Order: sequence, then structure tokens, then C-alpha cells
Amino acid sequence: RGGQAQREIPFAQPGSLTKVFAIASGKGGVGKSSLTANLAIALAGAGRKVGLVDADIYGHSIPAMLGVADARPTQVDDLIMPVPTPSGVSVISIGMLKPRRDQVVAWRGPMLDRALVQMLADVYWGDLDVLLLDLPPGTGDIAISLGQHLPGAEVVVVTTPQEAAAEVAERAGTMASMMHQRVVGVVENMSYLPCPHCADDGKEHRLEIFGTGGGERVAATLSQRFGYDVPLLGEVPIDVALREGGDTGKPIVESDPTSPAAVALTAVAERL
Ligand code: ADP
Repeated sequence: RGGQAQREIPFAQPGSLTKVFAIASGKGGVGKSSLTANLAIALAGAGRKVGLVDADIYGHSIPAMLGVADARPTQVDDLIMPVPTPSGVSVISIGMLKPRRDQVVAWRGPMLDRALVQMLADVYWGDLDVLLLDLPPGTGDIAISLGQHLPGAEVVVVTTPQEAAAEVAERAGTMASMMHQRVVGVVENMSYLPCPHCADDGKEHRLEIFGTGGGERVAATLSQRFGYDVPLLGEVPIDVALREGGDTGKPIVESDPTSPAAVALTAVAERL
């Protein structure tokens, strides 16, 4: 569209009624995308109109987790139509913008910025109640771009209980704050494994595989650093069904809603 004015990002307009939450983490592999996919489904299940932007350039695993891995967005005039999941979440993934799915993306700052703006401005989102963005791990180009284009976005920081993960998660939160975004809370994932073989005495036993305290620590540090309350929004246990749900495209909040992980995720969604 050489020379033509760029379309504006609807969520950045003063009258926008859409709540925007960016899901961030310091490290990869802490379950950020799994949480984002499940939060989207939980919010949709609560009757909200939900859009999801998969901006995780290295991962872009959201479509598979939501059962739309092979879907391609259609185009109407010069607007891109997001892909609807079976439960009604509208999804667009940075992976869908590549000509070929198996293509390796080596995009640098300006191209990433353009891709992000395209996913926000050139997609027909309609009237959303909530837009979630799955950010790449760390404090890279996409996080900076998002801060520039959507300073009103609120940030949810995901960490595991582990000290090393918590430390980098704090950095991701601080980065968001430098971009003038509000950090609305911390979610601790993989908090513990409910021991499957020792429940006979009626008490819950927790195997603390990644240690304890990471989520509390990030919440306390960021609260102190920013001078406002950054709560720990929830602790999500390790659950084989959560991993399986991600692999098969059937998120656990829908496929096994009474499991401890799904209950924890639904409770986090209620606080957003
Ligand atoms: P990230 O987006 O932070 O890189 P993913 O969401 O891709 O992380 O998760 C990494 C791996 O861990 C995936 O295989 C996912 O299924 C698994 N996983 C994430 N959270 C949990 C959990 N609470 N219990 C079991 N497996 C999990």
C-alpha cells in the first residue's frame, strides 16, 4: 500500500471499549502460550467476545493449541478476517502471515513492528470485549513495538516458581512499565504437581518440582518497584491433561473444566 495512509489501530483509539492484555514472560517454556490459549477460552466461556493475537514470533503455537493449526485467514477487500476457533475466539497468528507454514522467520525489528501493526490494524476484529496478545518471551522488539502502539495495553507476567525464571520475569515486567504499560498481575505456572499416588489420606500432597515462591516474588518485587499493587493472580499446577490439551487443540478449561489446572485458569480469567 505504498504511499497510502496506514490504517489506525482500533484498540488505540480514545473511545475503544476493548480491554487489551499482553501476556509476557521472561523465559520461553514457562507455559505463557498455554495460559494465553486457556484464558481466551475461559473468557469466551464467560460470554465475552475475545480476540487473540499470537505475536510469539519464535513459538507461534497458539493456532495448534486452539485446534486451528491449518486454518488460513481469508481476506475481504484489504481486511484480513481472523480465524474463528470452535468456541468462538477470533485468532490471528504471526505464523499465518508467512507465505509458507514451515518457513523460518528471521524478521528484524522493523518487520516485526509491521507484522504487529498489521495484526492489530488490518484485521477485522469487530467489537471485542477483550483482546489477548501472546508476546514472545523476553524484552525484545515486539514488546517495544507493542508499548509504542498500544501503551494502554495491560500486561500479565507469567513465571514458574523457579528463582531463575522469576528473575527474568521481573525484567519483562519492568520493561512493560518502562513502556508506560500497567502490569495487572502475575500468574505462576507449573506451581506444583498434585501427587497422584498419595491422596489416600485425604490431604493434598504437592510435589514442588520447580521449587516455590517465584510468583510471589515477582508480584512483590514489581509492586515495590512500581508503587502499586501487582497481585499474584493465580497458581496453575502441572497437569498432564493441560499439556495434552495443548497438543490436541482442546484446551483444558473446556475439555476438563473441573481439573485443578482448569479451575485455577478460570479463576485467573475472572480476575481480568
Ligand atoms: P511458552 O509459551 O512459555 O514457551 P508453552 O505454553 O509452549 O510455553 O509451554 C511449554 C510446554 O509446557 C508445552 O509443552 C506445554 O504443553 C507444557 N505446559 C505448560 N504449562 C503446563 C502445565 N501447567 N502442566 C503441564 N504442562 C504444561
